Amino acid sequence: MSRTIRSKLPNVGTTIYTVMSQLAVDTGAINLGQGFPSFEPPAELRDRISFYLNNGTNQYAPMTGIPALREAIAGKTRQLQGRKVDVDSEITVCTGATEGLFSAIQAVVHAGDEVIVLDPAYDSYEPAVTLAGGVTRHVPLGIAENGHDFGVNWQRLSDTINANTRLIILNFPHNPTGAILSTTDLEQLAEIVRDTDCLLLSDEVYEHIVFDEEPHRSLLGHDELWERTLVVSSFGKTFHATGWKLGHCIAPAALSREFRKVHQFTTFAVSTPMQHGVADFLVSHPEFYRALPGFYQEKRDRFCGLLKASRFHFQPARSTFFQIVDYGEISQENDLSLAKRWTKEIGVASIPLSVFCETPFTGTRLRFCFAKDDATLEEAAERLCAL
Ligand code: PMP
Ligand code: GLN
Repeated sequence: MSRTIRSKLPNVGTTIYTVMSQLAVDTGAINLGQGFPSFEPPAELRDRISFYLNNGTNQYAPMTGIPALREAIAGKTRQLQGRKVDVDSEITVCTGATEGLFSAIQAVVHAGDEVIVLDPAYDSYEPAVTLAGGVTRHVPLGIAENGHDFGVNWQRLSDTINANTRLIILNFPHNPTGAILSTTDLEQLAEIVRDTDCLLLSDEVYEHIVFDEEPHRSLLGHDELWERTLVVSSFGKTFHATGWKLGHCIAPAALSREFRKVHQFTTFAVSTPMQHGVADFLVSHPEFYRALPGFYQEKRDRFCGLLKASRFHFQPARSTFFQIVDYGEISQENDLSLAKRWTKEIGVASIPLSVFCETPFTGTRLRFCFAKDDATLEEAAERLCAL
C-alpha cells in the first residue's frame, strides 16, 4: 500500500555539514568545512572516563545530570560569570548543545509564537521552532545586510518584536562570523526586552574560545537578562570532543523546570561515565579551558598569516574556530556551488554562508575551520593561495 507522508519539515534537507563532509570524504579533500578539531581530547580526561567506564558507573544517571558535574559547572559559572546558580534547580546536563537547544525551544514556544533568530543563524534553530508550531523571524547581522561588519542591528531587532514574540535566540561567540557581544550590546538587549514577555535562549557553545584578551560576555553575567534566559553550552568545543555530545542548560529555576519536562522525554539522561570523567577534569584542570583562547588564537593567527599571500579578504575572527573569508576578488560564483567546486577541484572543503540566511544572500563568503594541526592548515593554505 502506498502512503503519502505529510512531512513536518518539508523545506528541510540534509545539513550543510553532512553534505560538505561527505563530499570531502568522497573527493579526499582537506575538510575545513564541518567544525571539529583534528586533535584529541586531553589524555587525562580520557583516562578519567575510561576509569569510570571500568568501575561500575554504567547505569542511568539522574535525569538532571550527576551532582558532581552540576557542581563543577556551578563552580565555573560562579568564577567566570559571577553568577551563583543553584546546583539542583538551575543546571541540567543534556546530550550536547543540540538537545539543549531543541528541548529549550520545545519547552517555551507555543503554536503561533514568533521566535527571532539572527542571520546567519545556526541551522538547528528554525526546524526546532517549526516543530514547536512557532514561526521564525530572521533579523540579519551586519554581514548579511551590508557584507562588511558582523554587528547586531538592535533597532531592527527591536522593530521585529511584537505581541507574539516569545523567544529571541542569540549565539555569541557567533558561529560562523566570530562576532562577540560588547557590554553596550548587552545593555541594548536589556532595554529592548525590558517591557516585553520575550524569553532569551543563548547558545554559548564557544564560550571558551574568545580572542584578543576579550572576555566572554555571557548572558549569565547580566542580572536583568539572566532572569529570562536559558543558556546552553557544550563540552564538545571546550575539550576537543565534538563526538561526545555532552552539554548543559543553565536557567532560573522556573525556566529549568519547563526545560526538564521536555528533556526528560527527549533523552531522559546523559551518558554516565562521560559525566563523571568530565566532572573530575573540570575541577582538577581548570587551566585547560583557561588556555583555550591562547591555543586557538595561535591557530587563527597561523591560518590568517598563511592566507595573507592569497587573494581572499578577511578580518581575523574574534572568537570560535572559524575564519570567514571574502572570495570576491577571485570569483563571483554563488557560495554554495563554489564551496562544492573547490572541494572537488582544489581539495579544500568549506562552508558557504548563504545556507544560514533566510533572505537571498549575495555575499561572496566562505567559512573555514582552523581547528586543525599545523600541517593540515599549511597544506590547505597552499592550495587556497594558488587560487
Ligand atoms: N550551536 C552552535 C553555534 C554550534 O556551532 C554547534 C556545533 N557544535 C552546536 C550548537 C551543537 O553543539 P553540540 O555538538 O554540543 O550538540
Ligand atoms: N557546529 C559544527 C559547525 O558549525 C557542526 C555541527 C554539525 O555537524 N551538526 O561546523
